[in-house]
Amino acid sequence: MKGCKYGTHRVIEPKGSLPQPALKISNDMNIFSNEILIDVQALNVDSASFTQIEEEAGHDTKKIAAKILEIVGERGKMQNPVTGSGGMLIGTIEKIGEDLEGKIDLKVGDKIATLVSLSLTPLQIDEIIDIKPDIDRVEIKGKAILFESGIYAKLPTDMSETLALAALDVAGAPAQTAKLVKPGDSVLILGAAGKSGMMCCYEAKKRVGPTGRVVGLVRNEKSKAKLLEMGIVDDAIIASAQLPVEVLETSLAANNGNEYDISINCVNVENTEMSSILPIRNGGTVYFFSMATSFTKAALGAEGVGKDVDMIIGNGYTKGHAEITLQILRESEIVRTTFEKMYL
Ligand code: NAP
Repeated sequence: MKGCKYGTHRVIEPKGSLPQPALKISNDMNIFSNEILIDVQALNVDSASFTQIEEEAGHDTKKIAAKILEIVGERGKMQNPVTGSGGMLIGTIEKIGEDLEGKIDLKVGDKIATLVSLSLTPLQIDEIIDIKPDIDRVEIKGKAILFESGIYAKLPTDMSETLALAALDVAGAPAQTAKLVKPGDSVLILGAAGKSGMMCCYEAKKRVGPTGRVVGLVRNEKSKAKLLEMGIVDDAIIASAQLPVEVLETSLAANNGNEYDISINCVNVENTEMSSILPIRNGGTVYFFSMATSFTKAALGAEGVGKDVDMIIGNGYTKGHAEITLQILRESEIVRTTFEKMYL
């Protein structure tokens, strides 16, 4: 039997909703003809979700395991009820529904990372084997299902799984940067020393060429020195992204007093909308990758200061995002070694 390509046939509650916002979905592992069955090895739980569970469990791994089993038991998916977020998984293709055979570039035995959230992925956990709190990773014995519309990346063989996963987690950001940034642009990146920030700096610097300018905003001297040493920005400034007036002054000073063409927000805290909007020229672009962005604050804030800027919500997916992101690790020795130091 064929299911809906978005997976609505598995929604149990509330009926009519999509699998991501649903409270409960079916994790029956008999696949429909347009689904893929995955033998799961590990879950990379979203950082916000893992931190919440870890704190609730008092950092006790047995209690963390029990909480994860409880969530998956209740919801049929690993969606944290407090944060609403999921994460991603790695596993091996076990079975491909007959309607998809020959239509996708996957075969049984391929190792993949799913790039759709765990918050909508039917999951069954038979056993939790290990929990690695440092990297939010949960090794399990279990199965999962990918819907026809689900996106994935085959794990590369020229780098470690952990390195690939760390980068794929933020794949949307550098790929969108590649599409937005043009030669000669001036670009301000907020949260530039973080995971997505570094990737965006590298990609922006590549795209602006010799006539453009990339400025990274960070919180301290150490991050500033790191970015300058890596050579992925033209300049780095220190300011809190939560203080828009300070950001406006320091960022314009770093761009010969001129407003920027584009800003990219990679910060992981709230109240940074105006710091992303104020330094941008009319007709420029503000790209909010941060999940802590408020639509209301961005829309009313831009209107309030009379800024006619295009604001883009950071869709986690854009065509070719996995390849663009893995390519950065292949072509930039410095980004790769920095990621290895930080995330392995
Ligand atoms: P990350 O590595 O933790 O980086 C966040 C950066 O923000 C850090 O470098 C941090 O600085 C900086 N920061 C925090 N508060 C700041 C402040 N007040 N002023 C200036 N900088 C500040 O996070 P990430 O993995 O790159 O993710 C960044 C954001 O993207 C998160 O909100 C995440 O949820 C979101 N995200 C979105 C998608 C999507 O599809 N749109 C996908 C994945 C992640 P320190 O290093 O000094 O702490």
